[in-house]
Amino acid sequence: MAGYVALHQQSINDPEGFWGDRATRIDWHVPPGRILDADRLPFTQWFVGGRTNLCHNAIDRHLPERANDTALIYVSTETGIETRYTFAELHAEVNRFAAIMQSLGVTQRHRVLIYLPMIPEAAFAMLACARIGAIHSVVFGGFASVALASRIDDATPTLIISADAGSRAGKILPYKPLLDEAIALCRQPPKHVLLVDRGLADMARTPGRDVDYAPLRTQYMDAQVPCVWLDSNFPSYILYTSGTTGKPKGIVRDVGGYAVALATAMDLIFQGRPGDVMFTASDIGWVVGHSFIVYGPLIQGVTTLMYEGTPIRPDGAIWWRLVEQYGVTQLFTAPTAIRVLKKQDPETLKRHDLSSLRTLFLAGEPLDEPTATWIADAIGKPVVDNYWQTESGWPMLAIARGIEDLPIKFGSPGLPVVGYDLRVVDETTGETCPPGVKGVVAVAAPLPPGCMISIWHDDARYVSTYWSGFEGKMLYSSFDWGVQDEDGYVFILGRTDDVINVAGHRLGTREIEESLSSHASIAEVAVVGVADTLKGQVALAFAIVRNADVIATTDARFALEGELMRTVEHQLGALARPSRVIFVPVLPKTRSGKLLRRAIQAVAEGRDPGDLTTIEDTTALDQLKDAMQMS
Ligand code: ATP
Ligand code: MG
Repeated sequence: MAGYVALHQQSINDPEGFWGDRATRIDWHVPPGRILDADRLPFTQWFVGGRTNLCHNAIDRHLPERANDTALIYVSTETGIETRYTFAELHAEVNRFAAIMQSLGVTQRHRVLIYLPMIPEAAFAMLACARIGAIHSVVFGGFASVALASRIDDATPTLIISADAGSRAGKILPYKPLLDEAIALCRQPPKHVLLVDRGLADMARTPGRDVDYAPLRTQYMDAQVPCVWLDSNFPSYILYTSGTTGKPKGIVRDVGGYAVALATAMDLIFQGRPGDVMFTASDIGWVVGHSFIVYGPLIQGVTTLMYEGTPIRPDGAIWWRLVEQYGVTQLFTAPTAIRVLKKQDPETLKRHDLSSLRTLFLAGEPLDEPTATWIADAIGKPVVDNYWQTESGWPMLAIARGIEDLPIKFGSPGLPVVGYDLRVVDETTGETCPPGVKGVVAVAAPLPPGCMISIWHDDARYVSTYWSGFEGKMLYSSFDWGVQDEDGYVFILGRTDDVINVAGHRLGTREIEESLSSHASIAEVAVVGVADTLKGQVALAFAIVRNADVIATTDARFALEGELMRTVEHQLGALARPSRVIFVPVLPKTRSGKLLRRAIQAVAEGRDPGDLTTIEDTTALDQLKDAMQMS
């Protein structure tokens, strides 16, 4: 495998040469003067002095050659809508959207919060922001009012774009009431709310603040809004992580580096070429949606398929029907979706012609071997795992088959991607672990283009969160455990922090704990993720009540449990609702007062809790076991 390894080596030894060459594959209004500025590590600036625009690279650049090719295919099995937009049509829609935003006072550097279901307007809105230099912050539609309010408070948007409702598995989920609640909760409300009315649910409008998209679209039908040429290091967007530490981190990305990184990923990993159709079954609220539903494919001139619906409605063959009908060449989703499909009759798969499909890509959580083997056999195509994070913006570990047919090893997402000086290091010293020895997955500075440039208005938190371990070495921590084999393949072994993954959705245990703690009866609470065959993980809560009287009877206990579940559902969304709330007299803690989450999780999953030398109350775990048996 000399070919790929040699290229990776070159990218690390001569980053300026490597990325300078890669940068020529996108359009620059002003080419960069300096490829890399690493004078102020861990802060890194790529393509200094360059001026470019993401929207230009995603749309305008392609107009001379392929104005009438399809840029965006939209399929909603929720509403039955299937449409296509050519690059020219997408260009027109984005120009209209940009003009509408300008008419509402949005200008360069303003934040625009996008709280939308999977509708084409979500992509138009993101691209329109990119066009005029507004910083978008897309918030996943599954988040409810409290989660939304904290993100509004952090990003302080001028404009929020939302809709009457989303729909999931045929059930209408109103968005507007949640948004109104969130705005009522937040400190600095937006000037305007732009509303896409899908006709799914009634919605109230606040006069003077709320405006409807459809009439404005008509008004700006012929608008032409030129791309604003942005400094390569200007912020393009903020995307919040799940927030293990309670307050979600606003990951900030640049413009030029992101464009170059995505073009590189599309070329080397996803092997997308004009004429290809990439179907990324994710949500625009997640990083995968940003990079591989919206920007990546379009920058590469690849058609993107945007999908609203579940993988099993109207039946388990829906995705394969789309592959056949639209000639999908790359399908990208999360292992959880495959686990859902696995429950379907394999015959449904065989009903469709999958000859257009070249590769199935999976990311976002560990890909277990049974799932990987099942789907590889079922579709008869390579299944390529890849590993990355909201922070990185594009894969950190992958099998980059654009160079050579690297072998796949099930259980490993592959080799470090070009540009990443990725190592598995000792948790304390940061020294590289020998092959076979478990350590933390880390990346030596400088991070490659496309990665986070900081946390929104919190440089100090960026440094203290990601760059402060390993005895002062300039190493970025991924907060994941890993192990590297003799061939350089990295295996991911789990997280060093506490995030749970419910059906592919990231939830910070801390956010759920905070929500439960807001209930008057609760003194203390611990939330852990426990393994669930279908959803990957579910949240399980252990709570201490303030006054034991409130759980004196079985009925009272059930009633309080229900109330607590509804509290979380209301504040954070249904996904975050714990599967059970178990009342306990005491929680296991370290002597320094930190919850021993990993021990709680082990007990909850019926495993050995391991080393307990730091535990304060040695009976705490037994009391936890008793409580679980009782309830
Ligand atoms: P937060 O950063 O707020 O705690 P999060 O880490 O869950 O949330 P993401 O950035 O969406 O949010 O997820 C990245 C994480 O997902 C990785 O750090 C890793 O734990 C896991 N992950 C992603 N891809 C893979 C993969 N292919 N194999 C194993 N784990 C993966
Ligand atoms: Mg993370």
